[in-house]
Amino acid sequence: MAERNVPELARETLKQLIARRLVPTPNNYRDVFNEIARLPNDAPFPLEELRKIAQLLPARTPGQIKQKALLEYAINHLNWQGVSDALVAYGGFTPRSTAENSGFAPLPAGGDGAPASTGNGNGNGARASAPALTTEFLEQIARLIEFVRPALGTDDVRFTEQTNEMLRAMRDPGADVVRVKQMLGTFGHRVSFAAEDQVEIRSTLLHLLRLILENISELSLDDRWLQGQVEALMTATAPPLTLRRLDDVERRLRDVILKQSEAKGRALEAQDEMRQMLRVFIERLSVMTDSTDAYGSQMEENASLIEQARSLAELAPVLKQVVSATRNIAQQSLSTRDELRDMRETAQATAAEIAKLHQELDRVSAQARHDTLTGALNRKGLEEALSRELSVVRRKESPLCIALLDIDNFKKINDERGHSTGDEALAHLAKVARECMRPQDTLARYGGEEFVILLPDTALDNGIDAMVRLQRELTKQFFLAGTEKLLITFSAGVAQLAPDEEGDSALKRADKAMYMAKRAGKNRVLAA
Ligand code: GH3
Ligand code: MG
Ligand code: MG
Repeated sequence: MAERNVPELARETLKQLIARRLVPTPNNYRDVFNEIARLPNDAPFPLEELRKIAQLLPARTPGQIKQKALLEYAINHLNWQGVSDALVAYGGFTPRSTAENSGFAPLPAGGDGAPASTGNGNGNGARASAPALTTEFLEQIARLIEFVRPALGTDDVRFTEQTNEMLRAMRDPGADVVRVKQMLGTFGHRVSFAAEDQVEIRSTLLHLLRLILENISELSLDDRWLQGQVEALMTATAPPLTLRRLDDVERRLRDVILKQSEAKGRALEAQDEMRQMLRVFIERLSVMTDSTDAYGSQMEENASLIEQARSLAELAPVLKQVVSATRNIAQQSLSTRDELRDMRETAQATAAEIAKLHQELDRVSAQARHDTLTGALNRKGLEEALSRELSVVRRKESPLCIALLDIDNFKKINDERGHSTGDEALAHLAKVARECMRPQDTLARYGGEEFVILLPDTALDNGIDAMVRLQRELTKQFFLAGTEKLLITFSAGVAQLAPDEEGDSALKRADKAMYMAKRAGKNRVLAA
């Protein structure tokens, strides 16, 4: 530029503009002038335009306020790099969707762009709601995380701390979205591992549970009831697991533990009695042995005294001793005999006590929640299961069906084939019912040959279908009385729980419908 002065350059520029047929706008003039003067052709800094843009940027969060201030500072100092940095950082505090909704187009990188259109009044309104939307959105994610975190366990302290920190960052009124986003990324990564761990832990726990159950069954081979319960437990723990099945597992385990502890108490008691008796017996035996030994040596002594005696007078005290020692030993064996007789009586009393304890145990197991014969829930178990289902129904507003079935002409089976065949028939029906029920359904023995089935998430039509399916299944799976195939049929009533209806009332309706089914000719299912 030093070799040519400015007027000369200006003239030359005008000539070039004409020669190149360029419109003499200030921009074209500048471009050509710089070219001729060999100056860098930098665009001028669009100070005013950028100020206008900066003014339009909302500053509602601390992050936005800070970056807007940095932007204004960079604009005032004509610092392009500063403008660019501040805008990129500012963008991090505005969720993409919010920015789009609010009419914030990406800001022009160059200096010649006009301020981005803010659209109409609606655009401004949307922009005003953007931070609220972000806060609400972050709160929703935070709540979602809080809901799922119990499923991920609490073993990993570091993970728990990180999650707490993330939740705090999300709920911070001036949430740093970029930071939260990074934290969410890390969290997602950890969650995928934690979820895999949980699946693994669950299957290992199940495996352990089954091992324990197998072990219990080994321990109680002699008890048919326990054996049955353990088998039912093994079936109940087969995947897929549901909360209802776990509930059943828990109830059965409680029964098994109750009976085991009763049985253990009884065994310890009997063992103690026997130990006591053995101790007394050994004591008696040793006393007897001691006295017989003493008696023997005394007799030997007396014998030698007798041998050595030379007169009757010398013999008299020896004989007296012999008589007294013999009387002593006779008396001792008499008292030992008495004590042994007492011991025998005590042993008999203990045996009677144990028999009584057995009866007591049967009573206890009857008080448990499962029916001994069929393995179905008993009345107590049914009450508990029903109240649990009712609370689910009230919470989820899902339908619940209660079916009540009564075996047809059951008395005839008992009369013609004996009570134990009748028992087997009841167990058979329970087995078939369990096989064709869903895992979430509950079978309970309501009375002698009456059963109740709770069918959650089931509307009336489906409840009736389920009972008809059971009828059909019984025609396929005959009951074997010895070698003879017997067809067991039943009559049933099905009631769907009405809103606000008590369980007992629905049960009564099902009972009434069952009675109607009997009256209508048996072997049928009627809706209540
Ligand atoms: P219906 O078709 O009208 O129901 O006739 P039913 O013979 O099935 O009914 P009823 O009520 O006359 O007889 C039921 C019988 O069930 C009477 C009772 O002795 C028998 N029962 C009840 N509990 C048991 C049990 O645990 N084992 C056996 N074997 N029989 C039982
Ligand atoms: Mg009956
Ligand atoms: Mg009957």
